Amino acid sequence: MRVLRRLLWGLGLLALAVGGFWLWVMWPPIGGGGGASPVPSQPRDDVAYAAPQHVASIDPPALSGATPLAGASEACDATDAPGSAAAVNAASLSTLVWTPFGKPETGWETYAPRIAAEIGTTCAPGSNGFASALARWQGAHGQARTGVLDPAAFGVMLTGWHLARPFVRVNREGMCPGAPLEANLAQAAPKESYGGKAIRLRPGALDAYRRMTAEAKAAGVLRRPEALTIFSGFRAPDADAQRCARDNNCQGLSRTICSAHRTGLAMDVFIDAAPGFGPDSSADANRLAMSRSPLYRWMVVNAGRFGFVNYAYEPWHWEWTGEGMLPGVPISSLPTAGSEPVTEPPVAPISGKPAVATVARNSR
Ligand SMILES: [Zn+2]
Repeated sequence: MRVLRRLLWGLGLLALAVGGFWLWVMWPPIGGGGGASPVPSQPRDDVAYAAPQHVASIDPPALSGATPLAGASEACDATDAPGSAAAVNAASLSTLVWTPFGKPETGWETYAPRIAAEIGTTCAPGSNGFASALARWQGAHGQARTGVLDPAAFGVMLTGWHLARPFVRVNREGMCPGAPLEANLAQAAPKESYGGKAIRLRPGALDAYRRMTAEAKAAGVLRRPEALTIFSGFRAPDADAQRCARDNNCQGLSRTICSAHRTGLAMDVFIDAAPGFGPDSSADANRLAMSRSPLYRWMVVNAGRFGFVNYAYEPWHWEWTGEGMLPGVPISSLPTAGSEPVTEPPVAPISGKPAVATVARNSR
């Protein structure tokens, strides 16, 4: 079993390497929407070329029919979509009952922008064009070309998105990356922080954030004054461990004993917030509101050009891949206070608090 796992892991790395080379060769026509993107050894944002700036239309009521995107040449009323796939997708978008992250969710609209970026379409989720693009993606990933978004297809995408995060790849080896020397961190300007919080990041990550923010502003997707302000950057491992113990909330989905924020490369940015919710609430209604924002839809297509990758469960959590992880320690050696598995069945989110569930440590 162990040998088999290693073999599969090796094959996965090989696929990543081949995919990475292909991406490198094809760059820039492919946006940074996810998939098995390589970890760039250099930041991507110094490459001068016309950027993909399209923002996929997923807002209701445009669930079917042609995309309203200006300049888009994609045929969203494609006739090569499998059977009733578009109708099935249009219905399941808000009704599919599933557990993509270990807790029950209804519908997949929250993930529609990332899925659209992954399959390379700007068409709405309930359109024939979306189903057609999904069918092509399924065929290229060894799946039946149904054109229907189901947990199996999403699971393959999610694995690719997880593996695009260097932090997760280190975690999967049982290791927790090291923290940088705090003297080497850069401080965000007051206007870059949410609510005046002191935000520190590794300098390269902050520089990339600034370039991305300038481009987002030019693209017209910063619709709220707080948009893209940072509400969490570097978090010292000791302080995080104390918070885990105090709040008993490090069971994995939203918080973990090994947080990516210890690297100085992860940042939580204001995407949007539904009325009554904060910018970090993982309540489903709040995450859905974020996923409908022009900013998030711009990010899933464009942030990769600046070296950023996203944790799909949290629209606000982005990690910069322009520098490597620092040597770390085994996760098993970390303090575990506050991370005891929750044995109660997951509960529905109440007043902005996330439901608790025990899942793999791949979160923020
Ligand atoms: Zn985060």
